[in-house]
Amino acid sequence: MTLPEPSPCTVLNKTRTSGDSIQLPVEEAGGYDVLVVGAGLSGVCAAVAAARLGAKTLLVESLPYIGGNATIGLPLSSFRAAQDERLIVGGIPLEIVNGLRQRGGCEVDPAQRDWLPIDCELLQLELTRLLDGAGAELLTYSPLLAVEREGRELRSAVFHNKETSLRVHARVMIDCSGDAQVAALAGLPTPMGRHRDQKTQPMTLTFTLGGVEGDRMPAWGEIVKRWEELRLQRAWRNPRSAITYPFALPGKPGHYAFNVTRIIVDKGTDNRLLSHAEKEGRYQVEEFVEEFLRPHIAGFERCYLSQIGHRIGVRETRRIAGYYELQRQDLLALTQFEDAIACNSYPVDIHSPDGGTSQCEEGSLPKGGYYTIPYRALVARDADNLLAAGRCVSASHEALSAVRVLSAAMATGEAAGTAAALCIESGLNPMELSVDRLRAALRRQGAIVE
Ligand SMILES: Cc1cc2nc3c(=O)[nH]c(=O)nc-3n(C[C@H](O)[C@H](O)[C@H](O)COP(=O)(O)OP(=O)(O)OC[C@H]3O[C@@H](n4cnc5c(N)ncnc54)[C@H](O)[C@@H]3O)c2cc1C
Repeated sequence: MTLPEPSPCTVLNKTRTSGDSIQLPVEEAGGYDVLVVGAGLSGVCAAVAAARLGAKTLLVESLPYIGGNATIGLPLSSFRAAQDERLIVGGIPLEIVNGLRQRGGCEVDPAQRDWLPIDCELLQLELTRLLDGAGAELLTYSPLLAVEREGRELRSAVFHNKETSLRVHARVMIDCSGDAQVAALAGLPTPMGRHRDQKTQPMTLTFTLGGVEGDRMPAWGEIVKRWEELRLQRAWRNPRSAITYPFALPGKPGHYAFNVTRIIVDKGTDNRLLSHAEKEGRYQVEEFVEEFLRPHIAGFERCYLSQIGHRIGVRETRRIAGYYELQRQDLLALTQFEDAIACNSYPVDIHSPDGGTSQCEEGSLPKGGYYTIPYRALVARDADNLLAAGRCVSASHEALSAVRVLSAAMATGEAAGTAAALCIESGLNPMELSVDRLRAALRRQGAIVE
C-alpha cells in the first residue's frame, strides 16, 4: 500500500522567546484615524459615531461576535429619568432600541419602562447593519496583545492573528474593552475595584430557560422567599441572596433569562480565575434549575436550559485614570457637569465583593432625577490620544456600579466616538477639543447631554 503524498503545509514556528519576552512575527495592518478596541455596546456606538463623522474607523474584538456583555441575556436599563417618563438617552442608543423594536427584538417602549428585555440574537443582526451602514471596519477573533507608546502618545496596537500578529496604527484610540486593556497594555494607570482593597463586584453566569409556564409561576417575591428559606436548610453553592427576577424574552413565549448566580473571584483579568468562574457558574446554573426551580417552584416542572450566557458576566475590572473620576456623591447630588456628554439615572448597585448580599440604592434619586457623566471621565489623564467608554470610564467603584449599565455604556461610546472624529477633523487631542463643540455635535445626533 502506498501512502498519499502529504498535503503542502505552512511552517508557522516563527516565534522567538528570550527570557521573559516572546517575539511574534508582526504584519502591518494599516493606519486608521480611530481604533476602537472592544465591540460591546460601548465599542459599537463609538465606532458608528466616529465612522459616521467621516473618520476612518476600525473596531476590533477578541470574540467572534459583537455585542459584548449585552449578548448574555440582560435587559437594557436606564433610558429614563428616575421613576419618570422623560427619556435621558437618545442618539445611537435609542436608534438601536428602535431598530430592535422594529425587528420584534424588544417589546417595550423605553419611555414606559426602565428595563427593556431584548433578544440578543436580533441585537447582533441590528448591530452588524449599523456598523456596516456607518462604514466602520470590523475585525473579530483578534485579542489585543500589545500597545506601542512613545511618551504620551499611543502609536499602534498589536492584535493576535492565527498566523501572525497584526499591527494597527491609529491617531486616536478608544478603550471599550471593559477591562481598560488598552490603557493597561500601554502601561498607564488602571485603578481597579474598591479603593480600600481593590476588590471588585462578583461575576454572574446568566442563563435562559425555555418551557416555563409563566401563568403558573408565583410572584417573584414568593420565589425569593422560598430560596431564602431553603438557604437556611441546606448549603447552596450559590451564596447570593435577594436574587433578581427573570425577564420574559420578547417573541419567545415560555423563555425567561436569569441573573441569579454569584461567583466571587479576586479579579476578572486573570484567565485562570475566569476559567474557574465559568466552571463554578455552570455548577450554580445546574443547582438553581435542578435543585431549586424544578422541584420547588410551580411552572418550572418542564423547563429546559435553552442557553447559558456565551461567557461569564463580569461586572467590574479595571478602569482608566481620567481627568476626572466620577464619585458616588456626584450621582446623589444629581450633578449637571459643564462638560456633560451623557445622562444616567441608574443608582449605585453594588453586588458585594465579599459575599451574598447586594446594595442597590433604588429610590436614592428623586422622581425625575438624573445625573450626568463628564467628558473628562472619558479622557485618559496620562496619554494624549486615548479615550474610554462603557465599563472602563474613570469612576470610583461606587459610581461605576451605577454608570456601568448598558444605556450609559452606549451613550459614553457615542460621545467618545464623536470626540475622536472631531479630533481627527481638527487635528486636536481629546483634551484640547472644545467641549461646546462636542456637545453641539452630540445634540445634532439626537444624543441627550443635559
Ligand atoms: C451579570 C450582569 C448583569 C448585568 N445586568 C445589567 C442589566 O440588567 N442592565 C444593564 O443595563 N446593564 C447590566 N449589566 C452591566 C452591563 O452589561 C455592562 O456593564 C455593559 O455591557 C458594559 O458594556 P461595555 O461595552 O463597556 O463592555 P462589554 O460589553 O464587556 O464589551 C467589552 C468588549 O471588549 C472585548 N475585549 C475585551 N478585551 C479585549 C481585548 N484584549 N482585545 C479585543 N477585545 C477585547 C470583549 O470581548 C467585549 O466584547 C450587567 C452586567 C453583568 C455582568
